[in-house]
Amino acid sequence: MIHRMRDVIVAANWKMHTTPADAGELAVTIASRTRESAVTRVICPPYVALATVRDALANSDPDVGIGAQNVHHEAAGAYTGEISAAMLAGLATWVIVGHSERRRDAGETDERIGLKLGRATEAGLRAILCVGERAEERDAGAAEKVVEAQLRGALAAHDPAILSRAGLVVAYEPVWAIGTGRTALGSDAALMADAIRRTLVQLGWGSAAEDVPVLYGGSVTAGNIAEFLAEPTIDGALVGGASLKPDEMAGIVARASLTARARLAAS
Ligand code: PEP
Repeated sequence: MIHRMRDVIVAANWKMHTTPADAGELAVTIASRTRESAVTRVICPPYVALATVRDALANSDPDVGIGAQNVHHEAAGAYTGEISAAMLAGLATWVIVGHSERRRDAGETDERIGLKLGRATEAGLRAILCVGERAEERDAGAAEKVVEAQLRGALAAHDPAILSRAGLVVAYEPVWAIGTGRTALGSDAALMADAIRRTLVQLGWGSAAEDVPVLYGGSVTAGNIAEFLAEPTIDGALVGGASLKPDEMAGIVARASLTARARLAAS
């Protein structure tokens, strides 16, 4: 059953693409091609382009949320090259945590990701927590177990009421689908969304688990987004490669607006 009040969210993860010189123009172009009040739009540029994107959108489309792609797990200290949650004040209101590329390249553990969630929430940032299994884990029939363990590792130490109030979003991103052109089946993503909310209930979230938006991520494009948004338990997408292409983003958000408007009409 559709939980009527859940937001439909399209979040763009620009990864290590764009520069401060070109990010503002790209953000403005995407914003102008996706103007749709029923859909929550978020752009996550590299850290160094946050201020440019903020300034560009402030003048053109302040409804677009701005997110960082990561945040450090400590509040401050001798962490050369790192960025704390407090440093993001005024630059971002969202943050991605636990992206599989950071788990892979920076060795981020579930425990550390949990600490990041805490820092983000204390600083008033809305977090998108990424979870997802690797190909061999899915092939072994362990996909749900892996995602459940990731959620437990990141969330168990947190008060569900605090994370719920902070608007936690979970993005289900099977690792084998990220940047590969392969996608999960919509039906598999929907089963995983159920498993995610079941785990939240086991972690003490109660009915608040139903309020948590679950996004799908992994090679989403304008051509395949419909398969995921046809699933009532999926509430949008975290988009990587296609999020740098205004045509793709226009198509993705246009399809998302159909779902968002249907939910509004049903509520
Ligand atoms: C991502 O970066 O979270 C992602 C899903 O990437 P892509 O859409 O390119 O697979």
